[in-house]
Amino acid sequence: MYIRTEMSISKESALLGTNWKKDEPVPYAVLCRTFEKCENTTKRLEITEYLVTLFVQVMRLSPSGLLEIVYMCINKLCPDYEGLELGIGESLLMKAIAKSTGRTMKALKDDYILIGDLGTVAKNSKTSQRTLFRPKPLTTVHVFKTLKEIAQLSGQSSQNKKVDKIQGLLVACLENEAKYLIRQLEGKLRIGLAEQTVLSALAQAVVMKNPEFDKWKQQKKEEQLSTATDILKAVYNQLPSYDMIVPALLQYPIDELLSKCTMRPGIPLKPMLAHPTKSLPEILDRFQDQKFTCEYKYDGERAQIHRTSDGKISIYSRNSEDMSVRYPDIIDKIKKWIKPTTTSFILDCEAVAWDIEKECILPFQILSTRKRKDVKEEEITVRVAIYGFDCLYLNGKSLLQEPFVERRRLLHSSFIETKNEFYFATHMDSNDIADIQTFLDVSIENNCEGLMVKSYDGDHATYEPSKRSRNWLKVKKDYLHGLGDSMDLVVMGAYHGRGKRTNVYGGFLLGCYDPESEEYQTICKIGTGFSEEILKTLYDQLSSHVIPAPKRFYCLGDNPATPDVWFDPVVVFEVKCADLSISPTYMAGVGQINPSKGISLRFPRFIRIREDKDPEDTTSSGQIVDFYLQQPNI
Ligand code: ATP
Repeated sequence: MYIRTEMSISKESALLGTNWKKDEPVPYAVLCRTFEKCENTTKRLEITEYLVTLFVQVMRLSPSGLLEIVYMCINKLCPDYEGLELGIGESLLMKAIAKSTGRTMKALKDDYILIGDLGTVAKNSKTSQRTLFRPKPLTTVHVFKTLKEIAQLSGQSSQNKKVDKIQGLLVACLENEAKYLIRQLEGKLRIGLAEQTVLSALAQAVVMKNPEFDKWKQQKKEEQLSTATDILKAVYNQLPSYDMIVPALLQYPIDELLSKCTMRPGIPLKPMLAHPTKSLPEILDRFQDQKFTCEYKYDGERAQIHRTSDGKISIYSRNSEDMSVRYPDIIDKIKKWIKPTTTSFILDCEAVAWDIEKECILPFQILSTRKRKDVKEEEITVRVAIYGFDCLYLNGKSLLQEPFVERRRLLHSSFIETKNEFYFATHMDSNDIADIQTFLDVSIENNCEGLMVKSYDGDHATYEPSKRSRNWLKVKKDYLHGLGDSMDLVVMGAYHGRGKRTNVYGGFLLGCYDPESEEYQTICKIGTGFSEEILKTLYDQLSSHVIPAPKRFYCLGDNPATPDVWFDPVVVFEVKCADLSISPTYMAGVGQINPSKGISLRFPRFIRIREDKDPEDTTSSGQIVDFYLQQPNI
């Protein structure tokens, strides 16, 4: 679906206001007015229109400012793998607001509890403040640069320096700027600007900035908009870096973009994901006449290993985080696994904890005890082995469009299995259900979680970055009895412990993320499955994320389950349950099955903390609805 193609961009852009002239930096006010409009509608099409209008104007007047604008729309500072993030704590932000407006912390806190949004508190505090002179208008270049500087500050007295910088920006804020500035600093805008919407608006803006656009026939307009969107999304899938895409977008025609912005080692791709399956016959139904292959599903952590042609090796997580510092021991050994003819590559792998004496895989719980940061090789106690299951790039060439049969062949012919270090994923290529059952049983005996079943040959067997594809199915041992998958849920609040749990939290309020509304919806209270040790860890970890009131994007319903403390959404639990039911108290998937009731988990049990998942990357409300509907009794 594309924006109204008859809309006159020039007329609309007058609404952006301000006397922004050609080649001048983009005023921050222009961006904030666009944010305001996006916030005031829930219609995706309207949000896209506002963004297209903004992007077209930026491309025409100040193209050099486009990169910052795009980053600010998705509220990021750089590509994920560079690891620079905002997410400034509320107390620090309140300090800066207090200092720049002269209001007391108590007054700000009271307002915050009432309003639930620190951005609005900041804006209201500014409005009630009298200033002697009008500050110089903020520009997006300046705000973006300062946000980056704030994120980079570390070490002694960095907190004070951060407050000073934030205060410096706040005093110059006019109208609604303080609201969005504070939300940017918090790390989340939550005004409907999903990354896919921003990408699609960017592609449409490229087409609509053509001076001939208004003269084209409707059919041509729609074709061009659709092609541009497909191209940009395909480009982003293989090269998720605006630092590279935006300059290319300004320099080359869009139809050349796929050849100019090609994937390359050093830039992690969003991994392909799998669909859960509840029974083995379901696999046969899904693949019918297609060829498929089964592999062990290793229970560890996803690792994307890259080597550039000049020999630099990096390892990235499921979230495109650079994990090279976590695995110095592995980085050191990789050279041995590479055949002399192999120069550059990207491998998709699973890192598992490894018992070097018994030469076998250890449970995931052991891997999770390994430090995540500042790992020194001499201090490593948990050994890791790597299981390679896919090759996405080899010797200067992308393999994404090759069928899996070919990618696996190249994986096996370009790398060397190395005892206690590197193995190819064990596979079996039979479509006989008895063989698959035996293979599944053996995988479990070998400390695996179950099987991955993958489309093997033909058009369906390509690698689909970032997609949860039906061309990859996962079969976990527990699926076969009862509920399908485990769920990854966000900790929204906690209840004080009693008895043996007096000094820790005794239970937690969990929620799932709804990408459409950008809300966390409550799903259950959980108090089972925790060891004393884990409760202590959770208490320490969560105490620094306590907030005085629930976030405005917490969907709690009319009969909310109210915890003793609320948290920022940061910690993710993997959870299993007996079944799912409709509930007047919990709000997961509200409106999808029942207009006012949500879905809740019955008898939830804690499995583990998922450090490798972002809160927005957890089981979505749509998936929860699917789980609910798939229950045999529904
Ligand atoms: P999601 O729930 O989003 O699918 P997840 O991280 O919870 O992701 P699982 O549901 O357990 O993961 O299943 C997919 C994961 O299994 C992959 O991300 C990968 O880390 C792991 N894995 C283990 N063995 C394989 C294999 N042979 N092929 C592909 N993935 C594998």
